[in-house]
Amino acid sequence: MSYYSPSIEKLIEAFEKLPSIGNKTAARLAFHILDASEEDTNEFVKAIIDAKKNLKYCSSCYNISDTDPCPICANQNRDHTTICVVEDVRDVVAMERTHEFKGIYHVLHGSISPMNGIGPDDIKIKELLSHIMEGNVKEIILATNPRVEGEATAMYISKLVKPLGIKVTRIAHGIPVGGDLEYTDEVTLSKALEGRREL
Ligand SMILES: [Zn+2]
Repeated sequence: MSYYSPSIEKLIEAFEKLPSIGNKTAARLAFHILDASEEDTNEFVKAIIDAKKNLKYCSSCYNISDTDPCPICANQNRDHTTICVVEDVRDVVAMERTHEFKGIYHVLHGSISPMNGIGPDDIKIKELLSHIMEGNVKEIILATNPRVEGEATAMYISKLVKPLGIKVTRIAHGIPVGGDLEYTDEVTLSKALEGRREL
């Protein structure tokens, strides 16, 4: 049974649903909100509602964006003949931080993982093929994470795309095996991009 009043209990439960928030942290956040000014609280709620309402997926690359196409796809100064394939929206941000890559992206929203019942149809691979068909693509850089799932996904895509006569490269492994693109520093990621090899 709970010692909190129902409204606080509900707020704590809402915070507990967020990733890596335990019961104690959830309670701390809930009480922080109760102490916050009405203005700050309204701004916080509005930020959540606006993000949910305005953000959509770019219909070309499936990056998350306020606009469709996203600013990267809409930018004609970028090299639209090179597509960097990543697992997650946050990996786009990681790659952009390197300032090395001038092409465009394709976000898969996951990786093939038979262990978890995730097959090729559960991620944006069909969409990648349409993305490739849309333009005059010359190179696909597979920048999936250097884990078993990421490697399997890279191999799968490579087998699909190579017969189309498109150069397929894989980023080099300056990135530690089992690592996360999102948490890789810019230098390591730049090196990995530089040392990509053809598959
Ligand atoms: Zn886009």
